[in-house]
Amino acid sequence: MDRLIFATNNKHKLKEVSDMLTGVFDIVGLNELNFFEDIPETSDTLQGNALIKAEYIYKKFGCNCFADDTGLEVVALDGAPGVYSARYAGDPTNSGKNIDKLLLALKNQANRKARFRTVIALILNGERHIFEGVITGTIAEDRLGFFGFGYDSVFVPDGYDKTFAQMSEDEKNKISHRGQAVTKLVDFLRNNI
Ligand code: IMP
Repeated sequence: MDRLIFATNNKHKLKEVSDMLTGVFDIVGLNELNFFEDIPETSDTLQGNALIKAEYIYKKFGCNCFADDTGLEVVALDGAPGVYSARYAGDPTNSGKNIDKLLLALKNQANRKARFRTVIALILNGERHIFEGVITGTIAEDRLGFFGFGYDSVFVPDGYDKTFAQMSEDEKNKISHRGQAVTKLVDFLRNNI
């Protein structure tokens, strides 16, 4: 089976994609390659950063690979935190502080519309392909729920009356930004091997 590198060390992401590509590709994460460097994400777009990571790994290992980048884009904040979502409240990443900063920035703000966006950059046989997943919703006034990570406890997807953090992993993955982008990637790979 052909090997495909997923340029991530996140075990949850790896399992999600591996499960969807069982028997099609052997998905390998960076840990398995003993690669522990931090690839500098210097672009100011999600697509730019996904490409930087995918190209870096492609050059280093000479193997088909893909990388993802995700951001929370809030309408009243002109798209912030966006590409800077992980370190919105500073370095190192702290989800609690990120949410505190977000709720403060939206205090007394009527427009609480936001979206999560994931971009996946795939390099397959030297060619680049981009896949995107988007979910729109609103930012809650307070945290609700205990599942998930990042901004999950304050994001209410449109059509639901609960946050991502009140959903099981399966329920969230079926509708989420990342779930949508991964489904597009998997469909493409299944049709192009
Ligand atoms: P990454 O590109 O997947 O590392 O995501 C960047 C940042 O966006 C993370 O550190 C989280 O703060 C946030 N984020 C990404 N995906 C999600 C999600 O599904 N739920 C909540 N927050 C997320």
